[in-house]
Amino acid sequence: MHHFHYIRKRLFCEAVAVESLVQKHGTPLYVYSQRTLTEHFQRLDRAFAPLDHQICFAVKSNGNLCVLRALANLGSGFDIVSGGELRRVLAAGADPRRCVFAGVGKTGAEIEFALRRGVCYFNVESVPELERLNRIAARLNKVAPVAVRVNPNVEAFTHAKITTGTYANKFGIAFEQVEAVYDLAAKMKNLRLRGLQMHIGSQLTRVSPFAKAVRKVLPLARRLAEKYELEFFNIGGGLGIVYQPALASGPENWWKTPAAKDILTPERYGADLAPLLEPLGLKILLEPGRFIVGNAGILVTRVEYVKRTGKKTFVIVDAAMNDLIRPAFYDAYHEIIPLTRKNGAALKTDVVGGVCESGDYFCKNRPLPKVVEGDYLALMSAGAYGFVMASNYNARPLAAEVLVNGNQSAVARQRQPVEAIWSGEKLAPWLK
Ligand SMILES: *Cc1c(COP(=O)(O)O)cnc(C)c1O
Repeated sequence: MHHFHYIRKRLFCEAVAVESLVQKHGTPLYVYSQRTLTEHFQRLDRAFAPLDHQICFAVKSNGNLCVLRALANLGSGFDIVSGGELRRVLAAGADPRRCVFAGVGKTGAEIEFALRRGVCYFNVESVPELERLNRIAARLNKVAPVAVRVNPNVEAFTHAKITTGTYANKFGIAFEQVEAVYDLAAKMKNLRLRGLQMHIGSQLTRVSPFAKAVRKVLPLARRLAEKYELEFFNIGGGLGIVYQPALASGPENWWKTPAAKDILTPERYGADLAPLLEPLGLKILLEPGRFIVGNAGILVTRVEYVKRTGKKTFVIVDAAMNDLIRPAFYDAYHEIIPLTRKNGAALKTDVVGGVCESGDYFCKNRPLPKVVEGDYLALMSAGAYGFVMASNYNARPLAAEVLVNGNQSAVARQRQPVEAIWSGEKLAPWLK
């Protein structure tokens, strides 16, 4: 569900013609729909209304200050994974007491900063981290609020690079060891045990793995909650979105096509989990990223060249893997549509960027309407893990970002001036 649609053949974001934004701001251009992310937030919030709960938006999926402020205004908290993200959230005017600090590699400086700013609690991923946290808190004469991240070891049925809840990956503490870790942490004087956390993976398109993980962790959560007077159970994020309206099927894709009653919607997610969670009596935290912003953003790009070789048609565009790396990194699918709707037969096309890597493509052999130089294309569902993963590879400046709200639009981030790419560099004295 989103608010990008054609009106008389022209693509609109809410009430704004996307082409008018391109004329003003150029390409490549990220365009976000505030109404879409607002509705997603509210839908999930409503689905958990029967429980005492708090949504903590995963900043790593989209950290733009406009996005963060819009969500903070709706009452969202934030899931942060670095000191930089905490500073970002503060810059957006959000309340640090609604921030939970996760990540396997928190540095001493990051921990100290978060303690001074008073985050809600730390999601701890290892025993050495607990010890470091305790040491730093003692030095600052503070008590660090913590939750331990339990790895429930369940299969999430998603891409290998975004599954996190099995023992094959680096996240969390093994289910069997968690209780002993709480007993250990309870002896550390400058820690306060406040909750338990889990997160099993990203882009999950079915409810059953979430329900399975919750069922598995529930008895442990109940024991720990009683023993240590915990306040929170954080069930993580990972709710998937629809990238490909017409899903590929076939035996190799069986995991992408769950049974109808298992297809993830926020309503079903809430309806299946709430009855399990309610008896626990804890405040439930959620850490969705992609679900809130994924379908709320598009990346608009201009066709530079149409190159026909023997059997193939390459459409070379001015966005590239440095702007949106998901296809190269995760084999991700993004729907590609023209800003001006076209009639006529579809042509098997590779849409590629200009970066010198064969991995720099947005799609391969996909039937697309015929386009010519100067046309604009939209890469749909690029709101999550899009701009945040952008880089300056090939000395390409970071794209601009625009926020749309009804018939208003505003630059959410200006296009990076090219000189800014090397502004931190200096010639060594002996080279001068
Ligand atoms: C990445 C991440 C999230 C958000 O994942 P989405 O799939 O975007 O919802 C939430 N919690 C943790 C711990 C994460 O690492």
